[in-house]
Amino acid sequence: MFTYGLTRYDCKILPIVSQMENILIVEDEKRVADLLKAGLEEIGYNTVVAYDGIMGLRLFQSNDFDLVISDIVLPGIDGFELCREIRSRNRNLPVLMLTALGSTDDKLDGFDSGADDYMVKPFDFRELHARIKVLLRRAVQKEDRCDSLAYADIVIDMNKHNVCRGGVDIKLTPKEFKLLVFMVENAEKVISRIDIAEKVWNTHFDTGTNFIDVYINYLRKKIDKGFGKKLIHTKPGIGFIFTTEP
Ligand code: CA
Repeated sequence: MFTYGLTRYDCKILPIVSQMENILIVEDEKRVADLLKAGLEEIGYNTVVAYDGIMGLRLFQSNDFDLVISDIVLPGIDGFELCREIRSRNRNLPVLMLTALGSTDDKLDGFDSGADDYMVKPFDFRELHARIKVLLRRAVQKEDRCDSLAYADIVIDMNKHNVCRGGVDIKLTPKEFKLLVFMVENAEKVISRIDIAEKVWNTHFDTGTNFIDVYINYLRKKIDKGFGKKLIHTKPGIGFIFTTEP
């Protein structure tokens, strides 16, 4: 069984304390950044500050954060661009945009880029804290929901029969679910149609039907279509393999 991606606190370059939630602050105004850092650390969060968008992106790429607070107008890349970059790599990490701008258009741009929430400066710190708590709780619920069987960015909750890939929920029929579980449990091994027929359908292979290929195609449409890396591969004349490296 593969369980990649379920550990939240590995591969760090910064000495981040693992029991506290880690917040990345991206803010070029030093006074505001310092206030945020001091305020958040006082209430028990661990923080790292980036003073421009590029540094923010680098820190995001090399650490595990639980939440990002980002200003919009930043040197290097702006907060919208940063948020899009974060979203393309992690769909679950909460991003809260913080800005002096307050027009409706800016808010819409923020949500378009994938931000989860938005606050206008100057802000009430208690309100910021309340929003952070909501975002963190929501993110933890997403993680809890996906906590049983995993391969690459696919996570299967065996109790609730939920499947998500890259944080996106995928609806499967009971048979598709059973087929996916079988494939994930046998990831990186070639499995034959006979194996699938016996283990998923509890039947012996009937050469007169192509129902397995039909179901594999259903699953491909839901699991692979629209996602970067294909996981279900055909081995001509043999069967299939579920892998990131065909
Ligand atoms: Ca700024």
